[in-house]
Amino acid sequence: MSTLSGRCFCGEVQFEVTGAPAAMGYCHCESCRHWSAGPVNAFTLWKPESLKITRGASSIGTYNKTPISYRKWCTHCGGHLFTEHPTMGLVDVYAATLPQLKFEPALHVNYQESVLRINDGKPKMKDMPQEMGGSGVVLAE
Ligand SMILES: [Zn+2]
Ligand SMILES: [Zn+2]
Repeated sequence: MSTLSGRCFCGEVQFEVTGAPAAMGYCHCESCRHWSAGPVNAFTLWKPESLKITRGASSIGTYNKTPISYRKWCTHCGGHLFTEHPTMGLVDVYAATLPQLKFEPALHVNYQESVLRINDGKPKMKDMPQEMGGSGVVLAE
């Protein structure tokens, strides 16, 4: 199994993910945009046991606005790390924190909230796929 290493902006917090992600794509939701201060969030979803903190665990801050997403960052540099989704049983390790990852986005989620249209031919889910508790409705690009 392959292991990829990731780190926060300053390197205080370091981690590894092992195996393959359950899903990769882009989230356009207002929460991701507001928290990241970016127009879209490139996500990679993993089983929680695939993620191991190898350094700086005590420097990880947590904030949850909703019970769905526990957002994590480095308390030294403020760099974002990952978001736990306990109700989904998955953790979103931001693609940007995994430089060795071959990012292969399969879909866009929460596209109804998009502020940045991306014409890449990938499915544009109105909210979330049905298997992840959404409507499964696909929108035009
Ligand atoms: Zn840091
Ligand atoms: Zn989102």
